[in-house]
Amino acid sequence: MLEETFEFDVIVVGTGPGGIGIALKAADCGLKVLTIEKNELGGTCVNAGCVPSKGLCYMSHLADQLSDCEELETYGISAPKPTLNYPQMLKKIENAQDYHRNLVLKLFQERKITHVFGTAEILKPHHVKVIHRETKETRQYSARFICLACGSKPSLLPLAPVDPDFVYTSDTLDSVKSVPESITIVGAGAIGLEYGSVFSRLGSKVVFIDAFGSIGGNLDAEISHYQQIYMESKGITFHLNSKIENIEINRENRTVMTTFSSESNGRENVQTSIIFLCVGRTVHSDWLPSEIQRTNKGMIYVDSNFETTMKGVFAIGDAIDGPKIAHKAEWEAICLVNYLANNTPVPSRDSVCLPCVIYTQPELAAVGPSEQALKAAGTPYTTHLLAFNSIGRDTTQTKSEGRCKIITSPLFHQGVVEDVIVAVHYWSASAGDLVAEAILAVENRIPLEFFGNVPHAHPLFKSLRFMHKVDLYSTSLQ
Ligand SMILES: Cc1cc2nc3c(=O)[nH]c(=O)nc-3n(C[C@H](O)[C@H](O)[C@H](O)COP(=O)(O)OP(=O)(O)OC[C@H]3O[C@@H](n4cnc5c(N)ncnc54)[C@H](O)[C@@H]3O)c2cc1C
Repeated sequence: MLEETFEFDVIVVGTGPGGIGIALKAADCGLKVLTIEKNELGGTCVNAGCVPSKGLCYMSHLADQLSDCEELETYGISAPKPTLNYPQMLKKIENAQDYHRNLVLKLFQERKITHVFGTAEILKPHHVKVIHRETKETRQYSARFICLACGSKPSLLPLAPVDPDFVYTSDTLDSVKSVPESITIVGAGAIGLEYGSVFSRLGSKVVFIDAFGSIGGNLDAEISHYQQIYMESKGITFHLNSKIENIEINRENRTVMTTFSSESNGRENVQTSIIFLCVGRTVHSDWLPSEIQRTNKGMIYVDSNFETTMKGVFAIGDAIDGPKIAHKAEWEAICLVNYLANNTPVPSRDSVCLPCVIYTQPELAAVGPSEQALKAAGTPYTTHLLAFNSIGRDTTQTKSEGRCKIITSPLFHQGVVEDVIVAVHYWSASAGDLVAEAILAVENRIPLEFFGNVPHAHPLFKSLRFMHKVDLYSTSLQ
């Protein structure tokens, strides 16, 4: 029997971090690649996620620092309070987005990757139909492997359909062209906390409502509590353990009334100019054939090598179960191509160390489980909770808030029991950079003592070497 021939080796649906990762790596492995994108190049990350949110976090933080004239005076700097131009901030972000989209196109062209703009539909194994974005023409393409990196979209609340003037998600927030007087944010996870910090710095009154008892999603509750106290000191309000009961738009006086309830306070109302929903992510599923099954979380089901229930069709990134973060999508992209091109088995997804960073100020960053998760799993552990308050560079350059929680756990290895680092949680300036060292420590199950023998530059921000010298330099909070 003749073997079926295909136009491409790999068809990639979606050009976010996952799709870009698959396309570039597959082309570098000598495979012939087609990418399909229905919106803009760069996916959620460039167009509605990391790029706009991190841009606004940076610009509003800079403005905030320059506005603290009293603090600047202590450095010997006298400067007038800066004025803020929100439309210009949005323009700066648009420029950054254009830069990234052009960069993706350039990288594709350099590797002779064929790219089409259009909406993909899977017809059967190896065959995809595309309705082209500009011409509306339909064309079929075939490949040995079809890779779905089609991402996710914001979840909605059944009682709060998106409204162009009052109810927003991260996909529509860019249509807010002026700083709202007040904003209710439903969900105090990463996206909510980052945008809440941004709008608070820009002058909005910010109110959070969250069903959980702590902020920051799965982050260590003790560490994220420091951030909650910090944000409250900036005038931000949190209603935790609270359920949304009703959302009512008053178009005449241009406000939204949110009714919520909690066991401790009963029913309460908050009235703000707009409401921002940050209640999780869901898969773009309307276009998927029924042969491609979903998990009980509604995401695309994949086996240990990312293959879906349709043979030859694979899925990675936000579209499958697991944290919805860009570096997970990128890591999975590389593993998938190693499997498709070289038959290298995909490493166990349970054992991989995925850091999480929330770019508030101070930042929250973590790698490994929270203390609460270890306790719930019955894992033996020891915590080392430290305050950053005594490093020369820290006290002269930034306000010296900061905490680090290192969690160690006994590991039985070659007949010896060692207490190794299994998690590190930071709340501090530059926590997102500091966590890089912690990732290596957790990934390699390194004992805390090891860092006592590794020289680090002096006077460094909070490195694990410094942590080792707890008794010498730091105030242990335990
Ligand atoms: C506000 C916000 C801030 C974030 N900040 C961070 C951060 O700081 N760090 C971090 O790691 N992550 C962050 N994320 C998450 C990150 O953006 C996602 O995890 C990442 O983009 C997922 O990559 P992906 O390739 O799986 O999917 P996506 O980036 O969502 O890309 C999927 C692409 O597929 C396209 N597509 C879907 N269906 C079809 C179809 N049928 N035909 C053609 N094309 C299709 C979509 O148009 C989209 O472009 C943030 C997300 C948001 C919303």
